[in-house]
Amino acid sequence: MGYTNSPLVSYTKISPNKTSPRNHPIDTITIHCVVGQCSVETLGEIFAKESKKASSNYGIGADGRIGMYVEEKDRSWCSSNAANDHRAITIEVASDTTHPYAVNDKVYAALIDLVTDICKRNGIKQLVWSTDKNQRVNHLNGCNMTVHRDYANKSCPGDYLYNRHGEIAAEVNRRLNAEATPETPKVLYRVQTGAFSVKSNADALAANLKAKGFDTYMVKVGNLYKVQVGAFSVKSNADAMMKKLKDAGFDAFITTESGTAVAIGEQKSVAEIKIGSKVMVKSGAKTYTGGSLASFVYKTVYDVIQINGDRVVIGLGKTVIAAVKKSDLTIAS
Ligand SMILES: [Zn+2]
Repeated sequence: MGYTNSPLVSYTKISPNKTSPRNHPIDTITIHCVVGQCSVETLGEIFAKESKKASSNYGIGADGRIGMYVEEKDRSWCSSNAANDHRAITIEVASDTTHPYAVNDKVYAALIDLVTDICKRNGIKQLVWSTDKNQRVNHLNGCNMTVHRDYANKSCPGDYLYNRHGEIAAEVNRRLNAEATPETPKVLYRVQTGAFSVKSNADALAANLKAKGFDTYMVKVGNLYKVQVGAFSVKSNADAMMKKLKDAGFDAFITTESGTAVAIGEQKSVAEIKIGSKVMVKSGAKTYTGGSLASFVYKTVYDVIQINGDRVVIGLGKTVIAAVKKSDLTIAS
């Protein structure tokens, strides 16, 4: 298998302290703490000195940038164990100088990114951590994370990182699996204002909503035309829209059901309103004399019973509900 290097690297200073090439495929991750909140450049200077006889494949500076000092095809001199470093990618991570050798959040985030990238490019399907040294150093049960303290009397990688190895493995594995399986479609919270079997009635409600400034669309589910306002991935945003609609006099509820998009029909002109027409009252409209209408009026399809110029009497069958201005009506069907 051909070796590659991480595209996440922003600084490269190849160290003379290495064995080229490595003699074992990459199947292990070994994370170290620098014991210093230093930069990738400083690490590069340290590893450039032959007298140091030390290096790592990668380093993460205190600002979260990633440096490379030994290419992945080569063995770094990092973990006090030749066999480990021949099969491992070693990563030095900027840390505090005292116990527990904490690393900052930027550095930790960069470490997760880098380890994920290393696993992906080298065909490591999952990271397996064990708190049992014997399992780690003998690669038992798929264990493929080792630590410097396994091979030398050192605290490296420090308790801060040592105690997070399980968490690092879990997050990297989550990312590796997320790429392997297609994302499930996101649930959207749709705010619905009405459902009608007759499309022109849905068109009328949509026109009412648009007149009030609501961005409206229509979907068809089974035999019903559903008028909806907004589709939100965050439910609280759908709740807020529902409240806005209710405040404006519309009925509204939240559904996660989707449907086939349907074009909203053009509204017929008010001039076509005549006795017997099916009409809806525009949301918020008053009675002909300026009185208030109950909110259910805006959601109901009425019959036109009588017309006198601009004054239109509407009702259900022969039962009069109200007299309104013709301009406040839309044709329903
Ligand atoms: Zn170390």
